[in-house]
Amino acid sequence: MTTSSATAPPTTPRPLRAAGAAVRPHCDAAPIGDRILEFMAELYPQCRSMTGDGVRATLGHIARHIPLAIEEVPSGTPVLDWVVPNEWNVRDAWIADSTGARIVDFQRSNLHVMGYSTPVRATMTLAQLRPHLISLPERPDWIPYRTSYFREAWAFCLSHRQLESLADGDYDVCIDATLGPGALTYGECFLPGASREEVLLSTHICHPSLANDNLSGIAVATFVAAHLAALPARRYSYRILFLPGTIGSITWLARNEPRLNAIKHGLVLACLGDPGPITYKKSRRATAEIDEIAAYALQASGRPFEVVDFIPYGYDERQFCSPGFDLPVGCVMRTPHGRFPQYHTSADNLDFVTADALADSFETVVSIVSLVERNRMYENQSPKGEPQLGRRGLYGAHNGIDRTADELATLWVLNLADGRHSLMAIAKRSGYPFETVWRAAEALRAHRLLAAA
Ligand code: ZN
Repeated sequence: MTTSSATAPPTTPRPLRAAGAAVRPHCDAAPIGDRILEFMAELYPQCRSMTGDGVRATLGHIARHIPLAIEEVPSGTPVLDWVVPNEWNVRDAWIADSTGARIVDFQRSNLHVMGYSTPVRATMTLAQLRPHLISLPERPDWIPYRTSYFREAWAFCLSHRQLESLADGDYDVCIDATLGPGALTYGECFLPGASREEVLLSTHICHPSLANDNLSGIAVATFVAAHLAALPARRYSYRILFLPGTIGSITWLARNEPRLNAIKHGLVLACLGDPGPITYKKSRRATAEIDEIAAYALQASGRPFEVVDFIPYGYDERQFCSPGFDLPVGCVMRTPHGRFPQYHTSADNLDFVTADALADSFETVVSIVSLVERNRMYENQSPKGEPQLGRRGLYGAHNGIDRTADELATLWVLNLADGRHSLMAIAKRSGYPFETVWRAAEALRAHRLLAAA
């Protein structure tokens, strides 16, 4: 089943939610980081998981901002070496003490229920309940986030301090959940460009109320997609995927294998809201154009960054870069997963992410995409001797010493535009910024001295 949502342009100011509200963060006037953070706050309460209504509701919110096809793949569908799992939904869950007071309550935090917990309704002693309680002794005030996707089990997650405080006695335990045949849901935003060749952006959507991992990725991907949708022209076609981690990308790959050769560049977006510097993880190929461009964009930003090699662990780049596909897909993140203590705990909340970091992540992805769009190979159309630039206004009358950067970049482009050097390669070899080299190429193109290779 495919449903498409035609949506209002993302720039449409949203109505005030309450009279007297001082700011409208989705409004264009608000800084981009504030708007992204506000969107995250909207999505934060949803109880997302690998499947289920929290994912559908999240995709519904995204579809208000960008054109989004929402796909439903039935449980039991074989996908590569896997099978689409049963669908899980949870309505309510609690542990109540002997007075009936809910001491652990899903309504207060959806992290309290281990993801994919099987339904349970029982009265049990603390000793019987204890094997089903998960806490973090080293972070006694935080609730851990846990799942049991492929092994049937149930558990509650709670702070270690609360676990330690539980007295002996009987407890009422309820997980009002369903786990049965349904569907895996994902969202796909396709933006056609002049070329059939595609740029793939992908983010995971399967975590409940956690902020950096990975509402930040969902929100930045949505705003990048809105930015791309608003461009007057696109060289590449863009496919932005909102997938449950691992099984979602495996499902998407299984259903789209015949058209994967259209993917020329790709980025997985994850953990984009923490205050750490940007990290770019290279594709498995390591020397793909996207790897070169991402490293260049980070260097050019003048801000701290790290470029790390591919490892077969992390997010969905593992699937896109599996050897049978080996797609040129890298990963943009800030602090890598597991390297911030808040990772997969209740401390990864909206206070942990910052508008500045989200804005920087957005700008970084946009700058990479802008380079991808403009990095071409050209052929000099007058390669025998230098073409006479002066009469074309591309080379000023001069003392011959202090040539401008634009003039020198023009000579570099003419010399290296042999169908084998990209503008990025010319920028690196000449030492001139990509923007200068690109500007020179545009001027030469306008004078028909360059043609796309
Ligand atoms: Zn995670």
